[in-house]
Amino acid sequence: MQNSSFDLTGKVAIVTGGNGGIGLGMARGLARAGASVVIAGRNQEKNESAAREIEAIGARAMAVTVDVTDNASVAAMVEATLAQMGRIDILINNAGMSVRQPAHALSLDDWQTVMNTNLTSAFICAKAVYPAMKQAGGGKIINIGSMTSIFGAAYAPAYAASKGGIVQFTKSIALSWAADNIQANAILPGWIDTALTRTAREQVPGLNENVLNRTPAKRWGNIDDLAGAAVFLASPASDFVTGTAIPVDGGYSAQ
Ligand code: NDP
Repeated sequence: MQNSSFDLTGKVAIVTGGNGGIGLGMARGLARAGASVVIAGRNQEKNESAAREIEAIGARAMAVTVDVTDNASVAAMVEATLAQMGRIDILINNAGMSVRQPAHALSLDDWQTVMNTNLTSAFICAKAVYPAMKQAGGGKIINIGSMTSIFGAAYAPAYAASKGGIVQFTKSIALSWAADNIQANAILPGWIDTALTRTAREQVPGLNENVLNRTPAKRWGNIDDLAGAAVFLASPASDFVTGTAIPVDGGYSAQ
């Protein structure tokens, strides 16, 4: 990848929720493109195991315990990254969860947990890395949305609201921080086979068949399907791309 506009050599990336699922798929992609990767999640055992996987690719890695809903915890993550890695060039706001209940059955506590984990976290983390990116002369922020950034979800209204909000938040920081040479974009994954969707398949009758029928590619995505878009949006190849939301969905949102 040397001399390629997709080369991430010398760059440092924080991936929240990078210890498994889609986050790990993107972290592996960034590592293969040359980036050093900070794996940030609540479960330190999973963080360390993912960091070892990144090192096995040949990249530098670091495991940091963080709760992305907590301002002080995120501040400590940023501080630890700067202390150990020296810089922050890329932030992927990927940590997320869902509570599957229709609006009439969803508790206010669950609504707030989902919004805090999926949306408020992106604000907390983006704000926390902004000073380092501004001082360094630029950066890349990648927020993970969903098909529910576009479509509603009868069984997951808080999740859909949080993922719709992610797109508008992405556009807003793209506008605020364009003058700082910080590009902010969203990736909207289609249906990807992870722990999150394995429980959804158990809880939502007919989900597996609906996904396969509606996805033109006729398969679930795998976590490595997200790596290409992540590397593009993290690299100089996307320096004139900001405020966008790119579906990576096997064509799901095209119809
Ligand atoms: P997983 O459940 O496999 O991974 C979720 C990750 O988020 C874990 O690494 C978890 O780590 C981390 N996480 C959750 N809460 C917190 C928290 N409070 N603080 C820090 N880390 C947290 O899910 P996926 O890989 O499927 O999902 C990743 C992202 O992709 C989510 O934003 C999800 O909404 C989105 N997405 C997924 C799709 C899919 O089909 N799978 C489709 C569209 C979007 P830990 O528990 O250690 O904290």
